Amino acid sequence: MKLRLDKYLADMGLGTRSEVKRAVTKGMVSVNDTIVKKPETKIDTQTDQVVYQGQAVCYTEYEYYMLNKPAGVVSATEDKRDLTVVDLIDSKKRKDLFPVGRLDKDTEGLLLITNDGALAHRLLSPKKHVDKVYYAKIKGLVTEADVNAFAEGLDIGEEKNTLPGELRILKAGEVSEIELNIREGKFHQVKRMFQAVGKEVLYLKRLRMGSLSLDESLESGAYRELTKEEIETLC
Ligand code: URA
Repeated sequence: MKLRLDKYLADMGLGTRSEVKRAVTKGMVSVNDTIVKKPETKIDTQTDQVVYQGQAVCYTEYEYYMLNKPAGVVSATEDKRDLTVVDLIDSKKRKDLFPVGRLDKDTEGLLLITNDGALAHRLLSPKKHVDKVYYAKIKGLVTEADVNAFAEGLDIGEEKNTLPGELRILKAGEVSEIELNIREGKFHQVKRMFQAVGKEVLYLKRLRMGSLSLDESLESGAYRELTKEEIETLC
């Protein structure tokens, strides 16, 4: 891919477009060992060696992060009041990262953050029915009748019932623990499915999305880059 030098540098988070233009015209950037002073110079992202203030810059078109979202943070790119999931990725280079889908503010767990729009589209397309697996604590006793109701699809107040959900009871009690696999991503879907059987979700955490499972070594609020294999199997 070929890009203007100022865009190349700005994409890599080295400043705003006008800041990096100034740096280039002042002679602070070299390409293949030669100082280049024209911001419009075309750079081949595969083969050209760009050095900015003595530091080699390696161009990354896409970034992919797995975040263990904590409660209290919103699934957005910016927000006037709250911290966003993108704010938590402090090693990001690119400014165009976004979360793939949304988790509620009080929901925790797996969230993919990237700037790869095509991948996000494939994962979120309602036609693709990508699995999403959640762990939840539910107020009250979850029963086999609930398992059957989820398996048939539930009326959550939309045109059609939900697709079947696979509900597994991990612990039945005053506070039950469950795992739920659903293939849609409607607004507040898990909470509304439990509401439809008269129950309340007390705690919700996403464990898996498609082939991507939450890395259990990630503490709440922590993130890591996806491995090459994880990216390839998601694509
Ligand atoms: N379903 C919900 O109700 N909330 C989420 O955050 C995700 C799925």
